[in-house]
Amino acid sequence: MSNLVSKEIRLKSRPVGMPKDSDFDLASTEVKQPGAGEVLVRNIWMTVDPYMRGRMMDRESYVPPFQIGEVLQGGAIGQVVESKSDKLKAGDYVQSMWGWREYATEKAETFQKVDPSLGPIEAYLGTLGMPGMTAYAGLFRIGELKDGDSVFVSAASGAVGQVVCQLAKAHGCYVVGSAGSDDKCEWLVKEAGIDKAINYKTCGDLNKAVGAAFPKGIDVYFENVGGAHLEAAINHMKPFGRLALCGMISQYNDTMPAPGPSNIIMAVGKSLKLQGFIVSNHLDMIPAFYEEMGKLIKSGEMKWQETVEEGIENAPKAFLKLFTGSNTGKMLVKIGPDKAV
Ligand code: NDP
Repeated sequence: MSNLVSKEIRLKSRPVGMPKDSDFDLASTEVKQPGAGEVLVRNIWMTVDPYMRGRMMDRESYVPPFQIGEVLQGGAIGQVVESKSDKLKAGDYVQSMWGWREYATEKAETFQKVDPSLGPIEAYLGTLGMPGMTAYAGLFRIGELKDGDSVFVSAASGAVGQVVCQLAKAHGCYVVGSAGSDDKCEWLVKEAGIDKAINYKTCGDLNKAVGAAFPKGIDVYFENVGGAHLEAAINHMKPFGRLALCGMISQYNDTMPAPGPSNIIMAVGKSLKLQGFIVSNHLDMIPAFYEEMGKLIKSGEMKWQETVEEGIENAPKAFLKLFTGSNTGKMLVKIGPDKAV
């Protein structure tokens, strides 16, 4: 393994507004041999996620900011090449937060073994991973979903949204999702099995479209987008409705603070519950999540889509796609072959 070189993506400058290719650098670094308690892992897949945009800003948040000139971090799935730890052995498939690089030599406890029999290994970055778990925690704990509820989901065909939609359907709910293209809407209705899909880019008045889709009102709104979507949802929530505030991607590249929903006062009269959440505060739900997802995947009820960019050098391009809706389902980067050749 000597003289092995790993390509990696570093943050070159903090993006202002929409991130650009020039905010990232492709660099090469020599791979370190594992020391006692460490493993050397070859990454196969990495994920790009909207929350990474927040980490590119120099501000306090629930995760520390990325540093200029340093390699980025994020979820990755790889295979152990060499181990100096009794926790993992060569050949094990593992997930970690050592993404945005081809190889990682780190302490064994920073990697978790994944079970390749439950689903394809890359699903641990999507449906079976953080986005799927976000859907589960947001829908059941924050949204307090009850069987038969009326559920509205924004960014419904994305990594989180597609799981939210199908979990809610599996619980006998009436589900309407919004997405930014006809193809995405068609997949949601025909494959994910939701009741209606709204193309928010072509529907005209979003508020009217949401009202027409929910003549009796919304019990649970799963918020991924913010702005006009949140206002439309508030307008059509039933009394005692719950809004699970998962993310507001339409505002992540704003350079000025966005105005709040102009109709927020309706939350008082309708006794609405609006609650934000971060998935990492709900990891106690992981066993229940695996149990329910395992059943839905085995029975073929849970479907998902992925968009894949090939090569570590295309990771920034994959990240930028999240903000133009150019991804369908989970946005992934394939960094290397599934098996060592
Ligand atoms: P997605 O796979 O849904 O990708 C992002 C999608 O957002 C795009 O494909 C696009 O779909 C939509 N989008 C982008 N810009 C806009 C815009 N201006 N207006 C409306 N829609 C837009 O991402 P994820 O599923 O990974 O994440 C979804 C949300 O969940 C994000 O807000 C993210 O920050 C949040 N999240 C929160 C977590 C938590 O712990 N709270 C954890 C994980 C994710 P379209 O074509 O439909 O416009």
